[in-house]
Amino acid sequence: MRLLYCECGAIMTHGGPGSKKHYRCRRRAIKPGTHAGEVTIGARGIEQYLARRIFAVISAADDELALAVLAETAGRYAAQREKAEAPEVMQERQRLISERANLRRSREAHHADRKRVMLKGGFVDDFARESWDETERALAERMGAIDARIAGIGDSKAVELPYEEWISAGTDPVGPGSWWDAADFETKRAFIRLFFDRASVSKARRWAGQGVPVESRVQITWAGGIDLDRLPGSEAA
Ligand SMILES: [Zn+2]
Repeated sequence: MRLLYCECGAIMTHGGPGSKKHYRCRRRAIKPGTHAGEVTIGARGIEQYLARRIFAVISAADDELALAVLAETAGRYAAQREKAEAPEVMQERQRLISERANLRRSREAHHADRKRVMLKGGFVDDFARESWDETERALAERMGAIDARIAGIGDSKAVELPYEEWISAGTDPVGPGSWWDAADFETKRAFIRLFFDRASVSKARRWAGQGVPVESRVQITWAGGIDLDRLPGSEAA
């Protein structure tokens, strides 16, 4: 995941069949002072744990550090969206700007016509004057519409996190039927990546395998390098 690291500093990779899916330390050589044997952790257990921690932070809206994490996350989310939109947005803006330039030239030519007419003593009749006015109105209207579209395009700075999509009130955010439960692996990864810089997994020391509670093995560094577990008042693992 490039997010999940072993206590020895090596990256952990995802593998294993079906319900046996896990993350495993991928170190190549044993360095002095690091763990013997393998370090693995059940994939479902740690993914659910990380998701629960994230949803707890989303709910802790009055906690200053949680808010700092959410602000950092919102920034990442906005940056992702801008990246995703950039090519189309840029093309559309280019198109609108050149359309606007054409309109401006048409309008200048139209104004020059009027000047010529006025120098020659004015419009020949009401019809000619009304016709000029009508064209002027249409050009001004189209220009206004294009200006509004140019102003509105790329206005994705103020992106809010889609909380309503992620959480439905009164339900377990990682339970059956939840957004998390239905999300595929890539979506879950991207979601976790928004909130975390890294998570470090220690070896299960007391018992081999799954008997050791996940929370006692995982140390999270949140977005922006924030450690919510080390400070009093934050929700401890
Ligand atoms: Zn390791």
